[in-house]
Amino acid sequence: MKRAGHTEASVDLARLAGLYPAGVICEIQNPDGSMARLPELIEYAKVHNLKIISIADLISYRLEHERLIAREAIADLPTEFGHFKIYAYRHTLDNSEHVAIVKGDPAQFCSQPVLVRMHSECLTGDAIGSLRCDCRMQLQAALKMIDSAGLGVVVYLRQEGRGIGLVNKLKAYSLQDMGLDTVEANEHLGFPADLRNYGMGAQILNDLGVCQMRLITNNPRKIAGLKGYGLEVVDRVPLLIEATSYNSNYLSVKAEKLGHWMLQTYLMTIALQWQDEPRTVTEWYKRLENLRLLAKTYNLLLQEEVRPVAKAVFGDSALIVHLGFEQPLVGNPDWYQHTDHPYTNAIAQILDTVALSPNLKQLEFIISPGSDPLIGLQVQLDRQTFSLTEQPSSVCDHLQTQIIYSFVDSTPCKRSLA
Ligand SMILES: [Zn+2]
Repeated sequence: MKRAGHTEASVDLARLAGLYPAGVICEIQNPDGSMARLPELIEYAKVHNLKIISIADLISYRLEHERLIAREAIADLPTEFGHFKIYAYRHTLDNSEHVAIVKGDPAQFCSQPVLVRMHSECLTGDAIGSLRCDCRMQLQAALKMIDSAGLGVVVYLRQEGRGIGLVNKLKAYSLQDMGLDTVEANEHLGFPADLRNYGMGAQILNDLGVCQMRLITNNPRKIAGLKGYGLEVVDRVPLLIEATSYNSNYLSVKAEKLGHWMLQTYLMTIALQWQDEPRTVTEWYKRLENLRLLAKTYNLLLQEEVRPVAKAVFGDSALIVHLGFEQPLVGNPDWYQHTDHPYTNAIAQILDTVALSPNLKQLEFIISPGSDPLIGLQVQLDRQTFSLTEQPSSVCDHLQTQIIYSFVDSTPCKRSLA
């Protein structure tokens, strides 16, 4: 497998069969003298009742059945994002070096789902702080989430530019500087696509004793590849990148341009403010995670909102989230006009539950027929104000879009937003 060639494959095959590592290589000609290709070979194998496999089959078999990584060191790793252990691994075939950043005792990993993030090395982003991508923000956010959870793993794969290498990545940057559109943008979307890398990350997780994982990803479509490795994804946790005045514009541009967010259907946007405003990122994540779990009990996905327009509507200190689905809207866009609609029931129950959270100062929400509610906002938004002593579900029998329903814990007062 060092070189995916026929010679190596024939030796591999013999070895896997428990035989002396030697083989005979021959090419088969078609009757017209041309070399037979795979489709013709499959026919040939059928006629003569022969077994046939491809080199790719062999590689994926070995990735699944052989341990190709060796754990070589463990060290303590205090970081500004929490205290971790770092595990060093070597890939035994290509000698590449990879690390796992581990929180908690791996002895506990097998008995519960573990928070996992797969990260591909990005020298420019991770180490130098490049703003051409958000790799560093993703890595930091994942480390903070895992530190806050108390248990988890960041698998850090040393495959710069998702395997194309540093120089090639920088060449792509250079082409972009010259105004050429390259496929580079895609490289920063989600998971490494290469089967080999899935395998390596999966083997590291196996080595750490992870069986079930809660995968931190905003890219839900690319997780199927892990199934073959005895790893089960029991939950998908969105990567929550904290918005600052510095990066919120960047994040919103990325969200629009790359379609990186998960939601395709928006049902409701909630903005929460507390008397005891979360001061640390850890507290912030805890509240987000509570909301996410609540939404999940109603099969809704939660997505944090960071665009400046949202802060302008709901206030700088508000925690703003959308609830919805990752699929396009299934059903009618006028769902909110039906009090017995399952979506209406779900959001009514979610709102009543959220309204009970301790030290809540203000709960505001806006309903959407399915599309992104912050696109196409009316200039003059109505804000209807109620007291938090009322249940928010009390307004759910006459919901409208383009209205901000505002529940505050003080005396109700009428406001309107210009
Ligand atoms: Zn990057």
